[in-house]
Amino acid sequence: MYKTHTCGELRVVHAGQKVTLAGWVHRRRDHGGVVFFDLRDRYGIVQITINPDVSKETLNVVADVRFEWVLQIVGTVQKRPAGMENPNMATGEIEVIASEINVLNPAKTLPFMVNNGDTNEADENTRLKYRYLDLRRERMRENIILRHRVIKFMRDYLDKQNFIEIETPILFKATPEGARDYLVPSRVYPGQFYALPQSPQQLKQLLMVAGMDRYFQIARCFRDEDQRGDRQPEFTQLDLEMSFVHRDDVLAMVEGLYTAMIPAVTPHKKILSSPWPVLSYTDAIEKYGSDKPDLRFGMQLIDVSDVFAKSDFRVFQSATEAGGVIKCIVAPDSADMSRREVDELTEVAKSFGAKGLATLAVTAEGPKGTAAKFVKPEEFEAVKSKVGAKQGDLILFAADQRAVVNKVLGGLRLVFRDKLDLADKDVMAFAWVVDFPMFEWNEEEKKWDAAHHPFTMPKMEDLPKFETNPGEIFSDAYDMVCNGYEMASGSIRIHRRDIQFKIFQLLGLKDEEIQLKFGHMLEAFEYGAPPHGGMAPGIDRLVMLLADEPNIREVIAFPKNSGARDVMADAPSSVEPKQLKELHIKIVE
Ligand code: ASP
Repeated sequence: MYKTHTCGELRVVHAGQKVTLAGWVHRRRDHGGVVFFDLRDRYGIVQITINPDVSKETLNVVADVRFEWVLQIVGTVQKRPAGMENPNMATGEIEVIASEINVLNPAKTLPFMVNNGDTNEADENTRLKYRYLDLRRERMRENIILRHRVIKFMRDYLDKQNFIEIETPILFKATPEGARDYLVPSRVYPGQFYALPQSPQQLKQLLMVAGMDRYFQIARCFRDEDQRGDRQPEFTQLDLEMSFVHRDDVLAMVEGLYTAMIPAVTPHKKILSSPWPVLSYTDAIEKYGSDKPDLRFGMQLIDVSDVFAKSDFRVFQSATEAGGVIKCIVAPDSADMSRREVDELTEVAKSFGAKGLATLAVTAEGPKGTAAKFVKPEEFEAVKSKVGAKQGDLILFAADQRAVVNKVLGGLRLVFRDKLDLADKDVMAFAWVVDFPMFEWNEEEKKWDAAHHPFTMPKMEDLPKFETNPGEIFSDAYDMVCNGYEMASGSIRIHRRDIQFKIFQLLGLKDEEIQLKFGHMLEAFEYGAPPHGGMAPGIDRLVMLLADEPNIREVIAFPKNSGARDVMADAPSSVEPKQLKELHIKIVE
């Protein structure tokens, strides 16, 4: 070994010991003949003192040493003189007096500093181009270590619960999760392609047919989606599946895992309520305007259609006449919002599909706001008492078709969360959302899509609706949500060939197509497939929340940039003509 100790472990008890350390030059200070520098490795930072009275030689070597050079130091641990301790450093009570310095490797001037925390952070593409330097920064190192701890906890916990970790192939066949596939051309079979799995969905179900009973995998999933928001072409899930279970068995298992894990990996994070609340999809949408509600704060959507049933306000009238609803949210202490702020909110509301935004501010002088002059005094009193608004509050209304109203108010609710700082970042408000619709109408292609994926079990009592109204079929699908994010989806699966076949047909697949794409699944269901279900919590997003990071790239060692490029290795990139030829591929300009 190049070292006897790590840079982070030395304490006063080591005083007097001769140690050898190896690491990077983190900082350096010259003090009239004496040079101090901090040596850093993954475990911490320690002060090295070069005293010419101890070794003249070391002073000569150190003259050239710059940031991020890799050094090996031999020296003696010494308690720092009184008053010279640094309480901000774990090793701040000692220093190492160097007797020998070996330069293991010098370093060029770095494209950005790695020792200055988050001040003057380089732009993201520069950070990603030099990711191996970016990862030297404390924050990034801690994120990667946290990620390791999360995954390690999951593995240990599930092992104790009789799960077995099974790897499934990366080169496989298209597995629909609603995204485009990444395809890999076959050299051996001209014109044929593997697909990278959008998830191991089919394989984990086949493992249940194989009798494995409880499976998990830290699984990489590949989805070729447009790069909006916080997406990565490849991301990681804790993929799991269980046999002979009902919905609540799966939920209890995963809830148990998370409830044990959060305090173990991030003791400062608090889970808001245990057991986790369970909301139906319909309730989530009606109360929070979202199927991934942030439950850290209130501001629920309240239906006030009854209050305004006889309203003279045109906006309200036309909504109810068209079969719509009037709902509102109450923003605390926002009655005195400026005209400009209200205009901004109106723009936000419009971006969610509203035609405008009606407001009522509850003030000492009575109602103010854009709806004030259209609302009768008795309506104002009635709405105030129904929604519990007090002086200083601002009531925001949406009047339109139900779906639009929920979307608009759900969106505004989150704007107020951020504006008024209503949600504590150290609170984890986990909840289950259950009973999703089975299908969604795809207006563009005029066909039904699976809301979750086509292997999800419909509610048995809804089966007759197959022929009449597929839009009213609900499924045994569930989501884990936390702080406004979808953290996991899962479902009880179809294990009967006839039902699975029907679903594929309803999704518009021709019989031959079903056979070609999913014949292996249908056949497997004919050899004694057990009832089964599972889910797949996302790991990137979980670690992101636990690390208080704004996006998942900050918790992935080597992420693609927001344009889906690896800017470090520069991928994707062109390949040799010879390789293309072997793959039977011609590039069409
Ligand atoms: N395969 C699903 C997904 O990736 C999760 C599941 O149903 O287990 O979203």
